[in-house]
Amino acid sequence: MNFAFSEEEMAFLKDFQQYLEQEKAGPDSSVIFAPWRETDSWLVDSPERRGFMKRLAQAGYIGMSWEKQYGGRERPGVYDYLLNEELSSQGAPIIGKGVGCIGKTIIAHGSDKLKQEFLPQILAADIEFALGYSEPGAGSDLASLRLRAERRGDEWVLNGQKMWTTSAHFADWYWVAARTDPEAPKHKGISVFLVPMDHPGLTIKEIKTMGDHRTNEVFFDEVNIGPDYLVGEENAGWRYVCEALDYERFALYTVGPLLLKFEALVELAKVARRDGRPLSDDPVVRDRIAEFACEVEMATMLQRRVIAKAIKGEVPTVEAAMYKYFSTGLGRRIANYAIDCLGPLGLLKSGAPGAPFGGRWEMSDRATVVDTIGGGSTEVQKNIVARRGLGLMVGA
Ligand SMILES: Cc1cc2nc3c(=O)[nH]c(=O)nc-3n(C[C@H](O)[C@H](O)[C@H](O)COP(=O)(O)OP(=O)(O)OC[C@H]3O[C@@H](n4cnc5c(N)ncnc54)[C@H](O)[C@@H]3O)c2cc1C
Repeated sequence: MNFAFSEEEMAFLKDFQQYLEQEKAGPDSSVIFAPWRETDSWLVDSPERRGFMKRLAQAGYIGMSWEKQYGGRERPGVYDYLLNEELSSQGAPIIGKGVGCIGKTIIAHGSDKLKQEFLPQILAADIEFALGYSEPGAGSDLASLRLRAERRGDEWVLNGQKMWTTSAHFADWYWVAARTDPEAPKHKGISVFLVPMDHPGLTIKEIKTMGDHRTNEVFFDEVNIGPDYLVGEENAGWRYVCEALDYERFALYTVGPLLLKFEALVELAKVARRDGRPLSDDPVVRDRIAEFACEVEMATMLQRRVIAKAIKGEVPTVEAAMYKYFSTGLGRRIANYAIDCLGPLGLLKSGAPGAPFGGRWEMSDRATVVDTIGGGSTEVQKNIVARRGLGLMVGA
């Protein structure tokens, strides 16, 4: 099996690396390139991040796999992957859901009005989206969602609650899955809507995760929207939600943050001292870090299997589940081992006097837990591997 990228792809990557070198010389560099960035905090908003995204857009890096008629470059999806892998490997924010999940769904199923209104703004990095899927009773079992959208005259009126909506507090538009036919089987009565985030019927409340990352619960009270903001066909939303996951396969599965975390652990073993000697003198520490090196290599290969299958136009459901399960668990184990290495001091938080590495490992130890939940929990990934990958069906 050959996981190598083509010459053209490598040449593109080299150009992009040069582009990032220029960015690194810019005034926002220290905010944009943060190798200690935890994956769940990519979507924290800042003027620097918005400026960086706008410059990426001006340089033509946003929407590269979109068709030319919509302003894209019609490059294969692997280019989206190369961009995001390079960005995350350098600790920079990645290109988000507006381009993949939302932009590509609008291209595939949206009306001309939605295309004209949203696609140019996405390409220019002028708008941010929040993704409203999960609810208090619908996370892993998303198709059980209950947020109600009723047709009243010309309008749709939405009532109910969403949960865990990242970026709701700074996004411009809300991409919402709602129940439009409560009588239909649960996968068949769902539709997708676009709701302006400043609608007076929306109430956004902060939820702080254990990784210090902000997410939100959002309440809908008589949120009325025009018929144009129903995406595609009524009651076809479940199909769009599933398809959108496939659009994101290239963009979301970057291994860069894990590699950075492992490099930081190796550095820790060289720098930190126990009884006056570097930790790396300890054969038990070296043994464990060598094991991690092998596991990091395994994670990289699992990730390449996702990309290799997606390049062939196949849907890598099982491969993606294996990679998500293994890599997020590994990130967690690495952060946890770093705390073990640092001893009690390793539990000091950022800002506390004497906190080793500025308390970053303590933060990492908490933030990596969140990675094992968001985007589909560890247990759900294992279910996919067992059922779809191995045919171990319940009651079979
Ligand atoms: C930081 C963060 C950001 C998020 N951002 C967004 C967002 O922007 N938009 C959005 O829509 N959602 C978002 N989510 C929600 C995320 O997708 C859900 O948290 C996730 O799908 C799990 O759903 P749940 O939290 O409802 O847990 P539940 O589904 O209630 O699961 C609870 C526990 O039961 C386990 N479990 C559930 N079903 C099974 C099963 N069949 N077999 C075995 N075990 C099972 C789970 O693994 C978990 O341990 C975010 C979550 C987090 C943590």
